[in-house]
Amino acid sequence: MDAAATLVVALAGVTAAGLLGFGWGRRRGARLDTSQAAARGDLSTLDLVRQALAALPDACLLVDTTGRVVMRNQAAGDLTGAVEGKPLVATFRVPAVIQAIERVAQAGPPEDIGFTLPVPVERTIEAHVAALGAAAPEALVLVLLRDMTAIARVERMRADFVANASHELRTPLTSLAGFIETIRGPARDDPEAQARFLEIMQTQADRMRRLIDDLLSLSRIELNEHVLPLGTADLAAIARDVVDAVQPQIARAGIRVPIEVEGTVPPVAGERDELIQVVQNLLDNAIKYGGDGGDVTIRLTSGQDPSGPVVRLAVADKGPGIAREHLPRLTERFYRVDAKASRERGGTGLGLAIVKHILNRHRGRLEIESEPGQGSRFTIVLRARATS
Ligand code: ADP
Repeated sequence: MDAAATLVVALAGVTAAGLLGFGWGRRRGARLDTSQAAARGDLSTLDLVRQALAALPDACLLVDTTGRVVMRNQAAGDLTGAVEGKPLVATFRVPAVIQAIERVAQAGPPEDIGFTLPVPVERTIEAHVAALGAAAPEALVLVLLRDMTAIARVERMRADFVANASHELRTPLTSLAGFIETIRGPARDDPEAQARFLEIMQTQADRMRRLIDDLLSLSRIELNEHVLPLGTADLAAIARDVVDAVQPQIARAGIRVPIEVEGTVPPVAGERDELIQVVQNLLDNAIKYGGDGGDVTIRLTSGQDPSGPVVRLAVADKGPGIAREHLPRLTERFYRVDAKASRERGGTGLGLAIVKHILNRHRGRLEIESEPGQGSRFTIVLRARATS
């Protein structure tokens, strides 16, 4: 509540009587050169207060001890429908806030009240209610309303994320615990069954390790997301290295992964290790989900964006493709078109989330084109490194 606290300090001493008596509404809407007028001493307190409210990013209003709106900024008008000179409760019927105003008007301490507004879209708002200056009946009450919807959404996402991650880890763990019990109990003297179970246990343990690796990757990338990468990377070389590294999977799928480079492609501004991870995740997916359809191609081109020269790297497969409604959600953590298919292929549901965060850090972007039955194309667009 720093904004409110600052304003309370700035306005301390301003009273309802002072405001109302000091040309209330006198110069409403007039454009003033604030600093010069203030320096000359001919800027009224009322004008200053009104301009301070107007400059606040949050909805803010002042009411008198009877609950009448003395002044409000535009945001407060939009949010509460408050009309200056009318009781706040006439347009804003949130009992918890109205009662808090009454308590504060009777010399109560400042209060913070959280509430939701259901229409037009549900919003989570926090009200800070504090008295200004003099004691009743002259006091004014300041009501600051902050839209916490985005913060509430982030908190919910964080809680969902922890629940999802725990669930993903719990499934292989439960399986491991079950097999340990079986090997120590019913299968104690059955080496054949033991060998079979140990193999499944190995798969489950690998899955847990991949998940933990991906979770750690994601949190590391998020920590650095605001730091622009300083390095320079050659995407064509990265593509060749990644294809070499995943050769065993390519061979197992019985496909080829040709790399096509159109003309000369400049180096990009980026961290080589992170970009390797991007290309690897995209190629992994193309082989995992699209490998049945035949060869996967990697194509590099240079291009021009409004921000300057860019390099595009596209990984295209001829697999089953993805229905349109899933496309906008693919980069969400743990979002999968088919969770069972993803798990069976060793997926964690985090690959594209990692891609998105790395590209965010690089101020790049991911474009996904796909049509069921036609395969998918995932294209990364990165800024070319300016050569001087
Ligand atoms: P996962 O570990 O499940 O592969 P990702 O974040 O890498 O997680 O991908 C999310 C989902 O997107 C996958 O579960 C899959 O349903 C879909 N997907 C990704 N790439 C492809 C592709 N090339 N073809 C079809 N579906 C894909």
